[in-house]
Amino acid sequence: MSARWIPAWTGDEGAARALAAFAARFGTDGVAPTVWSAPGRVNLIGEHTDYNGGLCLPIALPHRTYVALRPAPAGSDVVRLASAQEPGAGLVEMHLADVGPGTVDGWTAYVLGVAWALRQPGALPTGSDASAIGGFDAVVDSCVPYGAGLSSSAALEASVAVALDATAHLGLAGPADDPDDAGRALLAAACVRAENEVAGAPTGGMDQSASLRARAGHALLLDCLDGSVRQVPFDLAADGLALLVIDTRAEHALVDGQYAARRTTCETAAARLGLGTLREIHGTDGLAAALATLAADGAAEADIAVRRVRHVVTEIARVEEFVALLDAGKVHEVGPLMDASHASLRDDYEVSCRELDLAVATARSAGALGARMTGGGFGGSAIALVEADAVEPVAAAIAAAFDSAGLTAPTFLLSPPSAPAG
Ligand code: ADP
Ligand code: MG
Repeated sequence: MSARWIPAWTGDEGAARALAAFAARFGTDGVAPTVWSAPGRVNLIGEHTDYNGGLCLPIALPHRTYVALRPAPAGSDVVRLASAQEPGAGLVEMHLADVGPGTVDGWTAYVLGVAWALRQPGALPTGSDASAIGGFDAVVDSCVPYGAGLSSSAALEASVAVALDATAHLGLAGPADDPDDAGRALLAAACVRAENEVAGAPTGGMDQSASLRARAGHALLLDCLDGSVRQVPFDLAADGLALLVIDTRAEHALVDGQYAARRTTCETAAARLGLGTLREIHGTDGLAAALATLAADGAAEADIAVRRVRHVVTEIARVEEFVALLDAGKVHEVGPLMDASHASLRDDYEVSCRELDLAVATARSAGALGARMTGGGFGGSAIALVEADAVEPVAAAIAAAFDSAGLTAPTFLLSPPSAPAG
């Protein structure tokens, strides 16, 4: 059973595609567009922790979304958009003044939402001119798989954010060889608002931070309580390792409702415990005391709250242990933490599914150091940390297992920790 791979485009290839698609839509007259791009992300560990003020540890994928963009003539707020991934939508045209929560449907909300969010009061540092963000023509092309839990949505938002940052001369992203993390945190915040308020998806902040603030050769330790980050060296190739990403191609209904339900359970539990977020629960004793309080509630949902909280608190601790191992140069020892993360997400948080469990179990029995589901769950992707020479056999074993189980063939990506939006 041979595995199907999704290669990452080179920067030149992505730029050429976006420019060709732009020319096909808008012709070659007028101001030439410039190409910006931003990566999808994969989270190493720390799942469903972002909206609990916790820690997560994403890396940027080599797979990126490319946008060819040019500003509209001065004074115009008309935006014209097309995407190679949404050929049926044709060319969408809208006035920025008409964009806001509830006014835009579909994929263009992720683009228009970023322009809207950057124009909101307080989005930019004092002295920056939000009115410099006007209309634009943009065409998108991407090799980030859609809806695979690899954050094609944040890749799209972040590519637009850095494009508008440059065309409006906001100066937030900084030069490619010396990114400005504080400015990028503001761009990420605008992307989160775009996704939450305009696209209407209640995601936490991990995806946008990863796409804008990650660095090549590093994992991004993101503290979702205050938005601070630390770049943790993570040079897989130097350690003879590879990160195999398995897109299970599984799509399950009710995903949005389930995500919102998990958030609500966590927020209700934190309130019940008199805490701002579950991050405030510390240590084994603190966890035991919190779980005892929740269990004593007697409500029908008490058992569910106990398990959800146990996942979040132990998962945050696993991120800390994972980072400690990376800091100590012990990357070969992180496997058991990945395995424990998966078990917790499957049993306590209940966001795994048959396809994710099969990918993870098969990866491990085929020799992976560790494996886990990644992203929100209910389908989407899993990751496996493998010795570089085991990439092909592990992928083949997973493809064969899906075939035997009568499941849709999964696809595979390799993800060295790659560069952020730029
Ligand atoms: P994920 O972020 O895990 O890939 P989401 O459901 O959050 O999944 O985001 C997928 C949505 O983002 C798509 O349905 C589409 O609306 C939008 N999107 C992402 N990439 C593109 C693209 N290249 N062109 C147009 N829309 C895109
Ligand atoms: Mg997304």
